[in-house]
Amino acid sequence: MKRNEIADKYKWKLEDMVPSDQEWEKLYDRIAASEEKVKSFEGKLSDKKVLLDCLKFNEELNELIEKLFCYARMRRDQDANEQKYVAYTDKAMGLINKVGTAGSYLDSEIASLDDKFLEKVIADPDFSDFDFMLKEIMRSKKHILSDKEEKLLSMSYGATGNYSEIFSMINNVEVPFPTVKTKDGDVKLTHGTYAVLAQGKDREVRKAAFDGLYSAFKSLINTICMTYAGSVKKDNFYAKARGYGDCLEKSLFADNVPVAVYENLIKAVDENADKLHRYIALRKKALKYDELHMYDLSVPIVDGASLSLSYEEAFELVIKGLAPLGKEYEGLLKQARDCGWIDVMENEGKRSGAYSWGCYGVHPYVLLNYSGTTHDIFTIAHELGHAMHSYYSDANNSQSKAGYQIFVAEVASTVNEVFLLKYLISTVTDSQLKKYLLSYYIDMFRTTLFRQTMFAEFEKIAHDMDLAGTPLTVDSLSNAYYELNKKYYGEAIVHDDNIRYEWARIPHFYNAFYVYKYATGITSAVNIVNGILTDPENGLKRYKRFLSAGGSDSPYNILKNAGVDLATSLPYEVAMKEFADTLALLEKEI
Ligand SMILES: [Zn+2]
Repeated sequence: MKRNEIADKYKWKLEDMVPSDQEWEKLYDRIAASEEKVKSFEGKLSDKKVLLDCLKFNEELNELIEKLFCYARMRRDQDANEQKYVAYTDKAMGLINKVGTAGSYLDSEIASLDDKFLEKVIADPDFSDFDFMLKEIMRSKKHILSDKEEKLLSMSYGATGNYSEIFSMINNVEVPFPTVKTKDGDVKLTHGTYAVLAQGKDREVRKAAFDGLYSAFKSLINTICMTYAGSVKKDNFYAKARGYGDCLEKSLFADNVPVAVYENLIKAVDENADKLHRYIALRKKALKYDELHMYDLSVPIVDGASLSLSYEEAFELVIKGLAPLGKEYEGLLKQARDCGWIDVMENEGKRSGAYSWGCYGVHPYVLLNYSGTTHDIFTIAHELGHAMHSYYSDANNSQSKAGYQIFVAEVASTVNEVFLLKYLISTVTDSQLKKYLLSYYIDMFRTTLFRQTMFAEFEKIAHDMDLAGTPLTVDSLSNAYYELNKKYYGEAIVHDDNIRYEWARIPHFYNAFYVYKYATGITSAVNIVNGILTDPENGLKRYKRFLSAGGSDSPYNILKNAGVDLATSLPYEVAMKEFADTLALLEKEI
């Protein structure tokens, strides 16, 4: 369908952000003219008044820049056939880079200021919008080295190997994927087709896809091993060079998350592995197999159950599911639906998938491609979770403090999915559908909490091995991975030998100690939902505090203030209990 054939009520109102293209052009000129002013503060920030002027000026400028880029990009996303907005997006990017370069001195000049001066500034109420940002710069000073050392380090970056790029080249270009025979003809394996075949009904095809994928990676395993080993060594080198205990400490320092969070997550999931084993045994029973294999993990265990709803019906359902979040939240959901926040339908040239995005000072936007599947209904709830988080963050903070960090970015979206799931599970009467929803929820835990924690544990083992001087070889890495696979999935499944090479196909491992955030995200969400359901008044108060905090504090503190202290074992126990309770419901149905 062409965009002009879609009713206006299904389209977002980008004119709320920038009224017209003429206004966009004016905005562009205004930002372009500010480049000199950005530069004018350089070298003068030790003067308190100049520093304040500079921070305020930059804050306003950032607000304009966000608008400039968002508008162009969202116009492009709604229909890439409109060449004008492809050009606008490029033009905006170019200008942002130029202005960014002009202001690139800012953080390092502030970091070079005297500590006593910075402390005084931070305590000054005039700087209250910027205190957190200044504290973060001060905190980072601990790991900034002498000028000479910094120069040497910055020279080294280009020379110490870009392992993530090398892996990406191997993974996306060089892996010799075979073709797999299916009932509908030969299918060339790719990352995309593998994901589809792995969920398919035909078990022989699943097995062939699994073996085909891993043989392909195995044929390059020595090269991949050297690449990953190089990446780990590089991680450990920069961690040591900057005076961190290890790379884990360095990675978590960036988000100001205590190492105890990582350790408690792994400990709790390890201690509760028996619950995942129970689910694996149930999966084997549901599929009626004598032996369950690794290639039987993704196939749905429930047949032909789905909710198929119009957008209007789906939205009503989402509103009902999110009722525990209160009337104010409900009002905002309706506002999102009725006031042009959401671009609902698919059209020619529209970006695929879904997202929530926007800029400070304007309501958030949501892009959907609603086609009526069950997954689409959950996408509405998910993306509106992001949108409401942004709404509350913007409404309660200055621009400098509004943006929330990645560590907490998936909490609000998952909270919404969990509420919707729990509502549906407790209300649907069709038993197939109930089973489907229960396994949907359980798979969220399996793929996000268990699997990502297994990855997190593997990364820690690999980095620790290198620190201890144990060579990272195909055998040492693959054996470590194979043992983890056994520990997590237990004895009800056959640990096909090829699974020992799975570590070799995970791109996230080149961004060390990142994936644990998926696991802490779902853990936090489940705890928040649990808190609201057991004590609605206080639970909601705490959740609103979380939504309203934006990026005004470290993400760990923000969650702690919302009642979820991830450095203790409690939140993980709560999440594990929820998993076990849901599993018990599914066990009853099968
Ligand atoms: Zn999301």
